[in-house]
Amino acid sequence: MNYAKNILETIGNTPLVQINHITKELPCQVLAKVEYFNPGHSCKDRMALKMVEDAEKDGRLQPGGTIIEGTSGNTGMGLALAAIVKGYKLICVISDKQSKEKMDILRAVGAEVVVCPTNVEPEDPRSYYSVSKRLAEETPNSWYVNQYDNPSNTQANYEQTGPEIWEQTKGRITHFVVGVGTGGTISGIGKYLKEQNPNVKIWGVDTYGSVFKKYHETGVFDENEIYPYVTEGIGEDILPENVDFSIIDGFTKVTDKDAAVYTRRLAKEEGLFVGMSAGSAIKGVLQFKEHFKPDDVVVVLFHDSGSRYVAKIFNDDWMKEMGYLD
Ligand code: PMP
Repeated sequence: MNYAKNILETIGNTPLVQINHITKELPCQVLAKVEYFNPGHSCKDRMALKMVEDAEKDGRLQPGGTIIEGTSGNTGMGLALAAIVKGYKLICVISDKQSKEKMDILRAVGAEVVVCPTNVEPEDPRSYYSVSKRLAEETPNSWYVNQYDNPSNTQANYEQTGPEIWEQTKGRITHFVVGVGTGGTISGIGKYLKEQNPNVKIWGVDTYGSVFKKYHETGVFDENEIYPYVTEGIGEDILPENVDFSIIDGFTKVTDKDAAVYTRRLAKEEGLFVGMSAGSAIKGVLQFKEHFKPDDVVVVLFHDSGSRYVAKIFNDDWMKEMGYLD
């Protein structure tokens, strides 16, 4: 019989799918690493399991313990799967900007969800950074994951996603493009790919309202770059330790409107029902157009599934309200 002994064994080995229509104007091939094929429907299953296993190994996480994390949803889902199989409790601290589906899904897989206001400073005691830290201090036998600064996040992508992409493209990849939040995806995959071939270009997709692009270009943490935005999963108002700026060749910023419009195009034109940061990522690829030559093989990573955004980008009324439908 051929079966997985539990759901965690089905994580990884996601397909690489050619983009056939949206990128027609480019001279080269574009392949998407479609991470919604993971059991928690996002790339974050990989790093969530790795963070839990590493914490078990060095005793930060003890039997029967409580896992606590500030998460925009996808990491929470990955942690929930690990917590169920391994017998831990999970508390997810989430900001009120996140979609209601994400909160409902986390509750469905047994997590306790604590909702915090989005538009407060990270140092504010109401912010989800502060609330997660406080809960970790107050809860006995608990472990605060901290995906932003936890090296197992990058390591999971270095050990799994990077080698998968290298093998799937038979080493022919020339460019890797991906949205950046905690930085674990770009840093882990980018480091692995550059070790195999230092000529592979690693490009980050940022969002308006986030500090990454300006910081990468100038070395200045500019608070004027920080303002509210709609795109979920990418961009930050902090510099997470998992963003390795030294392996990133450049950033481009994508607007919320373009992210929403291109996510809908991926569903309609490619049959890829993906989340909003995938729209940012594919628009990012198009914005790097002048860098591509005919023999290039561009890999773009789509982090999650469209099912978490049905009330938003896949809802025409919401799109009209936001001014995203012309
Ligand atoms: N897209 C989505 C939907 C995400 O949940 C995340 C994780 N925050 C990202 C992109 C960015 O990935 P990373 O945190 O590894 O930079």
